[in-house]
Amino acid sequence: LNVLLLGSGGREHAMAWSMAKSDRLDDLYIAPGNPGTAQLGENVDLALADFDAILAFVENNNIDLTVVGPEQPLVEGITDFLEAEGHKVFGPSRIAAQLEGSKKFANEFMKKNHIPTADFETYSQDEFDQALSVIKKKDNYPVVLKADGLAGGKGVFICETEEEVEKRLDELKENTRFGDAAETLVVEEFMKGEEASVFVISDGKTAKIIHYAQDHKRIGEGDTGLNTGGMGAYAPTPVLGKRMLQRIEKEVILPTVSAMLLDGNPYKGILYCGLMITEEGPKVVEYNCRFGDPECQAILPSLESDLLELMEAAADQRLDQKEVRIDDKYRCCVVLASKGYPLDYEKGKEITGIEDVSDDALVFHAGTKAEGGKIFTDGGRVMNVVGAGKTLPEAIKNTYSEVKKINFENKYYRSDIGAKGLAHLDE
Ligand code: ATP
Repeated sequence: LNVLLLGSGGREHAMAWSMAKSDRLDDLYIAPGNPGTAQLGENVDLALADFDAILAFVENNNIDLTVVGPEQPLVEGITDFLEAEGHKVFGPSRIAAQLEGSKKFANEFMKKNHIPTADFETYSQDEFDQALSVIKKKDNYPVVLKADGLAGGKGVFICETEEEVEKRLDELKENTRFGDAAETLVVEEFMKGEEASVFVISDGKTAKIIHYAQDHKRIGEGDTGLNTGGMGAYAPTPVLGKRMLQRIEKEVILPTVSAMLLDGNPYKGILYCGLMITEEGPKVVEYNCRFGDPECQAILPSLESDLLELMEAAADQRLDQKEVRIDDKYRCCVVLASKGYPLDYEKGKEITGIEDVSDDALVFHAGTKAEGGKIFTDGGRVMNVVGAGKTLPEAIKNTYSEVKKINFENKYYRSDIGAKGLAHLDE
């Protein structure tokens, strides 16, 4: 198979690394890719928003399967666009990707299909005053406010007081930071519990769990400070025991995939279920229409099945014939970031020590750039280090011993990735 992989983050490096192990792979192209993916295939300079250029590349290079890493092109309809021209894509259609692209769509879908999630109301821009008076009447804090559309993790506010609600509503109303994403407001009940993510591959009819993980979204130790794209993850997470996983499959995954099919929007691709494990059971916090970054980097090294074969089978609607096999190791992924991220940070610092990392660990590039045989920082989240172990403590220890070997000026990382999982082992 000739494969085109869209994306350029640590997630796409991990996907390329996993696909490169497949006997089914002939040529691999990554657009735009990063210095890590360049070692596994050919990086091509295509803009993800330029669907015509992507189509031309697919046609000129006999691409058999296009695999989409990030959400934006999916929500914009890259799958529908390429499929209309007769090309095979791994990733959901524009409408199916609304499960991530519109929180209103996702919440209404869950309500209609009795999939457990937070109680919610939606309001259009001119109804914001009404939203405020409803919130005031309920007097039930914290209250969760969300901009409906994609806002890169910045469109969600957990408000503790009425003053905070007013402030956030004003910000959303001004609509400068969020663009179209904030045209609709979703107000949600706050769900109490611990979060975990389950990753599913689906061909529209059949859905199979790949693995489950826990991520660490905040910049600071102990989950403090600003939200980021993700500072680390580990898998599997002891937050989800066998029985809880069975409940999630029965109460969330199967109803989601079958309702999408019944609605005429078969879900094909990776379905990421972000869950809150509450006292009443699992509830959906969010769906994502692709792998999480950095969860993907912690998960794919555990996959014993052939990722490319699974993706091809999903695109061909024959996933029922495939088995998803995962090894019995724990894996921990620590993100090395540029100090200052997620706000301002410097770029262009030389990265050293990558070659000293043990063969038992993996390094996935994200915001890096290659120049003159050297690697430099080129983004907020720079690299991912993934270590393994027979137990979670061992995986964490093995990861951090490699993290120390990679150096660059202003290197920042959280030193408590996986600690939330360790707390469960003590129970
Ligand atoms: P964006 O669309 O801006 O990229 P996102 O998709 O990351 O944001 P969510 O996943 O819906 O947004 O919310 C981000 C975080 O906020 C969640 O991971 C969770 O910690 C918290 N959160 C969201 N909704 C709720 C809720 N109803 N109850 C409790 N916590 C919530």
